[in-house]
Amino acid sequence: MSRIGVFVCHCGENIARTVDCAAVAEALKDHPGVAHAEDYKYMCSDPGQALVKKAIEEQNLTGVVIAACSPHMHEKTFRRACDQAGLNKFMCEMANIREHCSWIHEDRGDATAKAIDIGRTIIEKVKHNKPLEVIKIPVTKRAMVIGGGIAGIQAALDIADGGHEVILVEKEASIGGHMSQLSETFPTLDCSQCILTPRMVEAYQHPNIKLHTWSEVEKVDGYIGNFEVTVRKKARSVNQDLCNGCGDCMAVCPSKKIPSEFDAGLSNRTAIYVPFPQAVPNQPVLDRPNCSLFKGRAKGLKKEACGKCKEACLKGAIDYDTQDEFITEEVGAIVVATGYKLYDVGKAQPEGLKGYGEYGYGEDPDIIDGLQFERLASASGPTAGAILRPSDGKEPKTVVFVHCVGSRDPEKGMAYCSKICCMYNAKHAMLYKHKVHDGRAVAFYMDIRANGKGYDEFSRRAIEEDRAEYVRGRVSRIFRDGDTLKVWGYDTLVGEQVVIDADMVVLATAIRPNDGIKELAQKLSVSVDTDGFINEAHPKLRPVETNTAGVFVAGACQAPRDIPDAVAMASATGAKVLSLFSSDELEREPAVAVVNEQTCIGCMRCELVCPYGAIEQREICTVDGQVCGHTAYVNPGVCQGCGTCQAVCLSKSVELQTFTDEQIFSEINALCAWE
Ligand code: SF4
Ligand code: SF4
Ligand code: SF4
Repeated sequence: MSRIGVFVCHCGENIARTVDCAAVAEALKDHPGVAHAEDYKYMCSDPGQALVKKAIEEQNLTGVVIAACSPHMHEKTFRRACDQAGLNKFMCEMANIREHCSWIHEDRGDATAKAIDIGRTIIEKVKHNKPLEVIKIPVTKRAMVIGGGIAGIQAALDIADGGHEVILVEKEASIGGHMSQLSETFPTLDCSQCILTPRMVEAYQHPNIKLHTWSEVEKVDGYIGNFEVTVRKKARSVNQDLCNGCGDCMAVCPSKKIPSEFDAGLSNRTAIYVPFPQAVPNQPVLDRPNCSLFKGRAKGLKKEACGKCKEACLKGAIDYDTQDEFITEEVGAIVVATGYKLYDVGKAQPEGLKGYGEYGYGEDPDIIDGLQFERLASASGPTAGAILRPSDGKEPKTVVFVHCVGSRDPEKGMAYCSKICCMYNAKHAMLYKHKVHDGRAVAFYMDIRANGKGYDEFSRRAIEEDRAEYVRGRVSRIFRDGDTLKVWGYDTLVGEQVVIDADMVVLATAIRPNDGIKELAQKLSVSVDTDGFINEAHPKLRPVETNTAGVFVAGACQAPRDIPDAVAMASATGAKVLSLFSSDELEREPAVAVVNEQTCIGCMRCELVCPYGAIEQREICTVDGQVCGHTAYVNPGVCQGCGTCQAVCLSKSVELQTFTDEQIFSEINALCAWE
């Protein structure tokens, strides 16, 4: 016999303005199975919760319905109150009469009637609730961080400093990411490498951090607290235990004309290479597709076409026959920090975008992108920090900077703002004017977005102190005319066509999620947005969590981010992971599916549809060593309670513990039966 208590909250005026809360309580008092009903101004407050506890104790309630806001807001609060009063907390449910009722209706009579109906359906549901227990899952207190840029390094250091082992996986030969390519950082003009490289070394030498560079995540199994990640360590051809980083191999390598990724194609590297002098680890990798020896092998040559690096290596570290290695790491949490790439605005657009062929990027060497300008301006770059034209090495006397190339332009690029370009363009104009005193810097912009601490002051400095000329308008075409580049644009403030004769053009191309992010997201069962960035669980309340418990996100793989944002997110993920590791067992709500082994026919339709890979086949009996039956089994640690399996099971053998068919039908019946 149910004895249900109903508590109707006014939510200040949020609900009471449209819903007659006293009338709702009065109406629900007479609903079959209800032993107590009352209304109160703020049910979530301490006195409000005390009313619930008192009624449970005095009226011997078997279930509680809180008619108030969304369960996302306060379900935990009220369930805790029930628990404290001795009632199993899963016998408490929320009836959402705020978001689903008072906020979306104006007519008080209709809204009150609807609130009563919502209350009735939840009362009927609670009648079929069963006392449940929280699920306890052991936690493996090791974390994996995927991506070794500044966000990944920061997250790894924070977790490692908290006393837990971290596996840092980086697909390139060195950690450091894009920040290692930058010259100086806005708005303080700190030398980027001077800030970053000590952190890279700290991560490398940290006793709690295990670094896998030249490695990628191959497969992810498991669930929060208990992930099993297979990492592919790509064949490096250099034994890291033997190599001392002397560089003799690179000195003799005859394959020298390979565009350097680190210098954004503005210099060349050898086939066996260290990406940059401050790389961590400072040991080479052999780029097989570009190596003469491997090209010869691919052609089937009987004699090895090269082998000079092996001969030069006195440590015997080079081995041409190493294979990719697969290692499995058990971790309790994963941080994704895979960063960004720049939108390649040349003509070829593999992603189906139109691009900006009219800007001549990729065709004229003096039309470069922001990262290439960083390399020109960097002391470690191909020109040792001198701003020189890539075509002839001369100092450019007029440089045009074009904002929003591929950003805020759904026609040809991305609809979103790339966030960092206004600031780095101001920095580039400033650095250029500092280095070329008689130079002219012209920036075409749509509007200036400088909304960080000190950012607006910084961009003003570029205009007012360094006299960069800012023209409000888009550039329509860039083309070569003899020794100069003609930049055609339109000044929307003056209302006239502008033509600038430039020596060099720098395009602030859009930020895009890094290559491989969709495949990685699939492996991790996290979702990506329409632009391919990883989705956060909630943009305001859970900005560094994903929809898969135990997988966190930091930096520019979630959206365009500058360095302070990326570092702040990384530290937030560090805090989340440390809080997860603060207890030996993880408690989860029992909102998971369970299989009735008595009726399950083992067809495994449910396994096919489960988006989280939570279902597996299990043997249920053996006779004389032969398996004679199997059923589906739901791993409660992995199940996210989405209910998809419940919808496809033909024998009605799998259902969510907290949303059984019986509960849902009783809710529908309650709605249909009432007038
Ligand atoms: Fe390492 Fe040998 Fe190359 Fe020196 S020569 S960097 S020890 S692989
Ligand atoms: Fe098939 Fe249902 Fe059993 Fe899954 S639970 S194997 S869908 S019968
Ligand atoms: Fe998978 Fe079913 Fe759990 Fe959804 S409810 S995650 S389909 S087992």
